[in-house]
This record gives sequence, C-alpha cells and structure tokens, in this order.
Amino acid sequence: MLNWIKFLGTAGGRVVVFRQLRHSGGIWLNLEGINIMIDPGPGSLVRIFENNLDPQDIDIFVLSHRHLDHSADINSVVESSTQSTKVKKDLLIAPKDAVEGDDPVFLKYLRKGIKKIVHTDENLHLEYKNIQIKAHIKHKHRGADTYGLSFESENKKVVYVPCGRFFEDMLYAYPKEADIMIFNTTFVKPKPAIDHLSAEDVKKMLKHLKPKLAVLTHFSVHMLKENPEKVAKEVEKETGVKTISAKDGMKLSF
Ligand SMILES: [Zn+2]
Ligand SMILES: [Zn+2]
Repeated sequence: MLNWIKFLGTAGGRVVVFRQLRHSGGIWLNLEGINIMIDPGPGSLVRIFENNLDPQDIDIFVLSHRHLDHSADINSVVESSTQSTKVKKDLLIAPKDAVEGDDPVFLKYLRKGIKKIVHTDENLHLEYKNIQIKAHIKHKHRGADTYGLSFESENKKVVYVPCGRFFEDMLYAYPKEADIMIFNTTFVKPKPAIDHLSAEDVKKMLKHLKPKLAVLTHFSVHMLKENPEKVAKEVEKETGVKTISAKDGMKLSF
C-alpha cells in the first residue's frame, strides 16, 4: 500500500503563522490507509478542503503540544470530522496540558466525539490497527509539554520532531534510520534564548540518526529569508542525508 503525507501548512513562529506568510494547517499522514491529523494549526479545516481531503476520513488526531500554531483548529477539525460529535472518532493523542485543566485547547464539550483520549508521555506506545504510535522524548519548549513522536507500520517509519530547543538526549531518544523524519526547523542557526530547533541542530541529529529522508518545515521569517530550499541543500550536503524543505500543499508518497 502506498503511504503519503500532505503538508497542509509549513508556517512556524509568531509572524509566519499569525500573519499567514505560509499556511499553518498541520500535517496529514496516511499510513497503511489510516489517516492521522497532526498539529492542526490556524486554518487547518480550510486547508483540508482546499486540498480535496475530507475531515470525516480522519481516524486519529495528534497534538504535539498546546501552542496555537499546532492546535488552533483542533476543535473545528474534530467538529467537522465527527459531524458535531455524532460520529465518534477513535483516538486523540495529546499532552495532558492540552486537553485537561482550566484552559484546555481542546474544548471539553467536544470530548464526547472521541472514543479515547490518550495523554502523551515518554512511555507512550500504542497499537492502532496495523500501526504503532510511540512518543520518544519530552522536548524543552516554552512551558508546554511537547513530545516527539513516531508512526510505524510493518515496513515504514515516520518520525515527527516538533518544536523545541535542541539538547543532547535528542540524539539518542529518537529512532535511527526512519524512512522519513520531519523536523520543525524554525531557524537556520540556534538562538539560545528561544526554544526552537535550527538547521544546525537538525544536522547533528541527521548525522547520528541517518533517516532515509529528512523534511524541514515550520519556518520562521528568518528561515524564509534564507530560503528553506537552499538551507535543505546545505543540510543534505553536510550530512549525506537526502533533505527537502516542505511547501504548502506538498504531497509526499512513500
Ligand atoms: Zn510551540
Ligand atoms: Zn511551533
């Protein structure tokens, strides 16, 4: 079976997301026919229809963390997907601080549209039909619980590295030799005061983890000015790992 990923948005950072310099609809992963909506940021519902996808086809919702650039449209997409909670969907995976407490980004009244809500932690390992979903490491990211995740079928592995400041443990916690590794690469060079990954950090991870393909996304203004395609080429040249930069609406089959 052919698997695919649709990049409904590639925006990252305050300006690019909230001035919509690029779209911010998140990532739609189809793995073995299972549809997984990851990080539906602002405009995700619009982008889903714009790309001729149907929210009713979504099986699993995933939030890497609660920040709005990753979660703003979770309610709209769940409302659409579940036909206003009438048709229940199987699974939502999110850190506890995104779905519980006084200020959840996922509204309480929509919970009845989801059969099972799983709180992400570093031990998360669940099987859903013929795929496995795992969390690998808690990131250091601006006060929001944030987890790196992987999605694995019998012969394909997709790893998602969300926002966060690079630290050494990331080299060892993430799985090696994935088919695709998606990096929220907000900056070109590290900015120590800001909890985001840079292309320099991605290089360190690629040299160690050696996926078959790396995809850069979640770009700041700084990254857009430097040209993500050029940055991806430099990353590829230095690491030897095939690297591309995502574009809004890009579909990747694998
Ligand atoms: Zn964030
Ligand atoms: Zn982010």
